[in-house]
Formats: sequence, C-alpha cells, structure tokens
Amino acid sequence: MPRTWFVLLSLVLVSGCNDAMEATPVSSAPAPAAADTEQKSATTSESTPETKEPVVAEQPAPTEYNTLSDFESYVLLEKGTERAYTGEYTDLEDAGTYICRRCNAPLYTSKDKFHSGCGWPAFDDAVEGAVHQSVDADGYRTEITCNNCGGHLGHVFFGERMTKKDTRHCVNSVSMKFVPAGQTLPAVVKKPKEETPKSGTDKSDPKSPDAAG
Ligand SMILES: [Zn+2]
Repeated sequence: MPRTWFVLLSLVLVSGCNDAMEATPVSSAPAPAAADTEQKSATTSESTPETKEPVVAEQPAPTEYNTLSDFESYVLLEKGTERAYTGEYTDLEDAGTYICRRCNAPLYTSKDKFHSGCGWPAFDDAVEGAVHQSVDADGYRTEITCNNCGGHLGHVFFGERMTKKDTRHCVNSVSMKFVPAGQTLPAVVKKPKEETPKSGTDKSDPKSPDAAG
C-alpha cells in the first residue's frame, strides 16, 4: 500500500476524532493521533446473553417531543458536539437500549456498543431503520440523525477496523437516553407530518369546522 494512502487515512481519522475538540477551549490535550495506536484492543468478543427483547409501552403515541435542556437542544437541534470523554454513556457497559433523547425512538442496543477510545459512545450497528445517514455539511463526514425526529446524533465512520463490522457510530451521549434491560421503553413520539416550526399562541380555533355528525 502506498505510504501516501496511509497518511491520508490517518488524516481523516484524526479529523474525525478532532471534531469535538473545536468546541473545547482546553488545548492541553496531546495530538489524538498518538492515542490511536493504543486503542486497537477495543473489540469485545463476548456478547451479553441477558439482553432480552425490550418491551415497548402500549400507551398511545404522544405527539410532543420531549423537552430538551439548552445543551441537549444545542447537540440535537443545532448539530453540536459534546466534549470528548464527558458524556455519561461513553464507558457504560450495562445491557439495555439507547433511545433518542428527543423522541424516544430506540436507536442502539448495548450488544453493538464497543470501546472506541475516541471519547464518545461507539456502536458498530444501529437498530434497523432507526438511524439516517447523510453527507455532513463539511462535505466529507457522514452525519447520523434520528430517523424519526431528525435529531442530530453524531457521525458514522467506516474502514477503521475496530470491529468486525468495520463501522463506528460515534454518538453524543446527550442525544440518547439509556433504558436498562427489563425496563419498559417509553412510547415513541410521533409528530404529525407537517411540523410547524413556530409555536405561537396555540389556542384552538374558536370557529372550528368540526361538525361531528
Ligand atoms: Zn428522535
């Protein structure tokens, strides 16, 4: 393999990890490239057998998304990134399901989680159909969003050879909520198709043409 390819690949990898550093005022951290060599032992070969099929709540689906804190809004709605090694789920190994913080859609399960060493929760697979991939605004990375509500999750990287699936969903902890195995998953918020961005005075129309019968 030509050496230039290796250099290019390294640059891509470093810039992928480097993304969140921009939001970090602290600049004392060493170049992340040096850490790459130490993080190859990430794959865990044994799966957790006690992971059962999660139970979904049977209530009618709510139509309002969960209320988000300022920081959650910054990440989920403004495509922000939490600082590396600060998320609550980066090292969590418990069995369970990771749902969307905004709409409760199940996104990832603990059986696909692995230690990437990159500072954010990493999964090498997602719940089928739950995560949407698109080219990032930066033109070269692949952004991942919740397929149900469009909330920003993070980015997905390929070809890093960290797991057999050769895929790393690098997800902000704050974009998700962990539901331990055995607990009931909350109902997924289903918004009507036409989402009104502005929430003005939300009084019901006094002259509603509702003639039932
Ligand atoms: Zn969502």
